[in-house]
Order: sequence, then structure tokens, then C-alpha cells
Amino acid sequence: MEQREITTVSGDTVAIPVADRLYIDGAFVAGETTIPTTNPTTGDHLAELPVASTEQVAKAMTAASRAAEEWQALPFATRAARLELFATILEANADDIAAIDAADNGSSFSKMRDDVEKSVRAIRYYAGLAGELKGETIPTPGETFDFTLREPHGAVVSILPFNHPTMFLVRDLAPALIAGNAITIKPSEYTSLSALYVAHLIDNADCFPDGLVNVLAGEGAVGAALVDHEETAFVSFRGSVKTGRKVMAAAGANLIPSIVELGGKNPAIVFPDADVEQVKDGVVSGMSLAWQGQSCASGSRLLVHEDVYDEVVSGVVERFANTAVGDPFDEDVTMGAIVSEPQYEQVLDYIETTKAEGATCLTGGGPVPDLPGFFVQPTVFEVTPEMTIASEEIFGPVLSVMKWSEYDDVIDLANAVDFGLTASIWTTDLNTAHKTAQSLDAGYVWVNRHGGIYLQTPFGGFKDSGVGKHGGLGGLFVYTREKNVNLDLSGPLAYE
Ligand code: NAD
Repeated sequence: MEQREITTVSGDTVAIPVADRLYIDGAFVAGETTIPTTNPTTGDHLAELPVASTEQVAKAMTAASRAAEEWQALPFATRAARLELFATILEANADDIAAIDAADNGSSFSKMRDDVEKSVRAIRYYAGLAGELKGETIPTPGETFDFTLREPHGAVVSILPFNHPTMFLVRDLAPALIAGNAITIKPSEYTSLSALYVAHLIDNADCFPDGLVNVLAGEGAVGAALVDHEETAFVSFRGSVKTGRKVMAAAGANLIPSIVELGGKNPAIVFPDADVEQVKDGVVSGMSLAWQGQSCASGSRLLVHEDVYDEVVSGVVERFANTAVGDPFDEDVTMGAIVSEPQYEQVLDYIETTKAEGATCLTGGGPVPDLPGFFVQPTVFEVTPEMTIASEEIFGPVLSVMKWSEYDDVIDLANAVDFGLTASIWTTDLNTAHKTAQSLDAGYVWVNRHGGIYLQTPFGGFKDSGVGKHGGLGGLFVYTREKNVNLDLSGPLAYE
């Protein structure tokens, strides 16, 4: 595999391994065509990505079906040991993976490295849960005995977004494999290099049988072909609402179970009794500026009570304005570049629309001057609920701030959008915290923090934010199908 020297936006040189082959049935193959992938901080060409053909999709899914049968027949402890090996390999190559993701995705090297560490923990967590792949016994009438079994689906497909390339790959791979499935991964066309590289790590260390893990790069058509393939038994999708609807519709047409984790426009609600200093830091951290705001969980709607509005908002604006934006490989930099030109243009379009709608821009509001790539200033707008960015997901470093005075109104405001992924409540009062948590249409609620998703907790949205949950035991069971077994015990004992 080629080791490529790239020049960072600061002019330094960093070497990254560049893998440019699909991984199908244990072999590295060229795609039917290629598409370029670029470094979003410099605009430099990084590699030509192989685009899988329909025949290659079929080959991968046929291999995955075969491999899944062999794999599920292995003792669960053997599967767990193979995953442990994968964790060790990933850990040993964390710097390379993080460098690839920082170069390909534009987020900071240190955060991409955190993602690899979280991925390693996720693999070990799910490997450790292998013994929990158990059913239950159920009382049934008469002389019968009833129990359930958990079985793998078979050939699972994982379709990934661009914001956490390695972490989301692993968060699908680990539970899918430990449950006995094979997995075929379709990374985002903007951030495929780490997935293609991870395939080499898997292959070099002989972690898994051929065909158990396939990596197919390409654009949406490759994802669509995977969902549509007759061997596909389950689909895990993370991405936009628009694509999520298509994926779920296509899976539904084939009667394949699927889980879709989609966007968010998540409220952070600040009550007058909140610890204001905690709010200022916590709300800024909740905007995920370390990923340029490109996190589905970002608290991008700040709803502040009028009594503390000025103090909170001025503190948040100050922190946004002082955010260091620049080279993802520079340890002193917090925020890098937007992942791609289309995403960058979308963020800037939202900023222009917001200005045209009459919102007050409190800081930022455009591209970062003097930087060559897709850098956007951390931006705060004071908005009113009818403005576009009060309800639409931007997926960029843009925070909408609104003032409130009545409790019922802020709950209505928080719940008024189509999304329902995360929310945060900032208060020192227990009753306020509990009652508000119960009133919010959001799948994941924090109190006095925004961000931090644990492996063992269920993560998934309400309303347009998705269907189904990842995380914890439920996130393991989603990769299984449940079988009920009922025995008639009414006959005599054999030896009587
Ligand atoms: P996207 O929907 O544009 O693309 C996601 C993936 O779907 C890509 O791999 C793409 O190639 C593929 N795809 C496109 N069309 C397809 C089709 N017709 N059939 C199958 N696959 C297809 O999303 P994105 O821009 O990469 O990611 C950003 C979005 O993802 C944001 O809305 C964000 O909130 C959301 N997201 C949600 C979660 C979550 O857990 N809720 C996590 C990360 C990102």
C-alpha cells in the first residue's frame, strides 16, 4: 500500500497510508470506475477511490452470506477472540487511522484519534457481551416449555456518513460480527480511505474469514444496490433524513429489517437557575465544534431564559469567537474544515439565507479568511422560530439562539421541529430536570451537559431523527432475530 506524503494547511508534511482497492471476499480489487477524494483543508487531491460495480456488490453479498454461515457456527468465544485481535490491531494502528481521517475528513487529528480509541473500546465491549446473546423462558399453558433463541440475520449491510468514519464503522461491525453476522460496509464517498485501510489491517492480521467483512466504496448508487441485493438480510444506515427515507423504503419493499439513524436540530434549554458558567462551556462543547458542528447530536438550538439570556449568550459568543480554526494536525487548533465542497456550500447558503431572513449575526457568518480550504467561521445567530435555521439541520458550526420566558412555550419550541434526536436541560432544580426530560421529544437527553454518548446506553432518535437504537444490549440484539421454541412435554418419560 502506498505511503503518501501530504502537505497540511500549515505547510507541514504528514505521511498517510493510502488504500485504493475494494475489499471483497478477502481480496483487494479495483473498482469499475474511480472518484477523487480530496483534503478539505487544502483542496489537494488525496486519492482516486474505487467505485464498486453492481457485479461487485453481488459478489460481496454472496461471499458475505457464505461467510456468515461459517462464522455463526463458531463458538461465541472464538468470535469474541477474533474481535479482540481486531481491537488490538486497530489500537496499534490508531495514529495512521486518525491521520487518514483528519486528512480526508477535515476534523482534528486528536479527535479522530479519540474516535479510534472509542472504537477499540466498542469492540472489546461487544466482544465481552458475547455471552449475553441469550433468550428467555416464557410461561405457557399446559405441559409445554417455551424459550427464545437469538440468531444472527446473516449478511448485514452498513451504510455510513462522513462525520465519524472509523467510529461508526466499528460501532456497526462489532455488534454485527459478535452476533454471528457478516458485514459489508459502504463508507461515505467523502471519507472512504480509513475503511479501505482498515480492510488491509483485517486482512494482514487474518482477523476474520474471507467474505466476513467487505468494504465497498462509491456513491449513493452502491449503497442503493446493497440495500436492494437479495442476500442482504439487515441494513444499518446513518446519514441524512432524505437518504434515510430512501433506504428504509427500499429495505421495506424487500421486507428487510433496517435501522436508520438520521439528523438532529437539538435544543439546549437554559433555565434561569442554571449555573451560568457551566452553561457557557457546556453549550459550546455541545455544538461539537471539534467536528465543525458536523454531529447529529450537536445542540444547535440554544433556548435561553430571558433572565440569564444576555450573560449566557455573551459568554457563548465569546467562546465561539475565540475558537482556534485551522490545521487539524495542529494540537492548538480546535476546529478544522467542513468535509467537502457541497457541504461547505450548503453551510454558507444557510448562513446567507439566515442573514436575508433578518437574523442578527452575533459572531462569524462566513468563510474563514486567509485559509485555502472549506473553513467556516464558528457562527452564532439570534433567530426567531419561523426562520429557516431555527428548524433545519445545517450540519455545520452554526448556532441558533432564541430567548424564552414561559415554561410551556419553551417546551413547545423545543418540540416544534421535525427532528427528535438529542436535547439538553440546564438547571439546578431536580423537578425541572425530570419534568422537562419527560416532556421532550428527544431520544437522548442530558442534564447539565450536552454530549457524551456511552457504549452501554441506547442511542437513537424520535420523529424524523430515525428508527431504532444503537448502543448497549439493545444495540447488540438489533443485529439478531428472535426465534421462539415451544416444546410439548405432555408425553411420558422415555424410560417409564
Ligand atoms: P447522506 O445521507 O448524504 O449519506 C450517507 C450515506 O448514504 C453515504 O454513504 C451515501 O453514499 C449513502 N447513500 C446516498 N444515497 C443512497 C441511497 N439511495 N441508498 C443507499 N445509500 C445511499 O449523509 P451524510 O451527508 O454523509 O451525513 C450527514 C447526515 O448524517 C446528517 O444529517 C447527520 O445528522 C446524519 N448522521 C446521523 C447520525 C445518527 O446516529 N443519528 C450519525 C451521523 C450522521
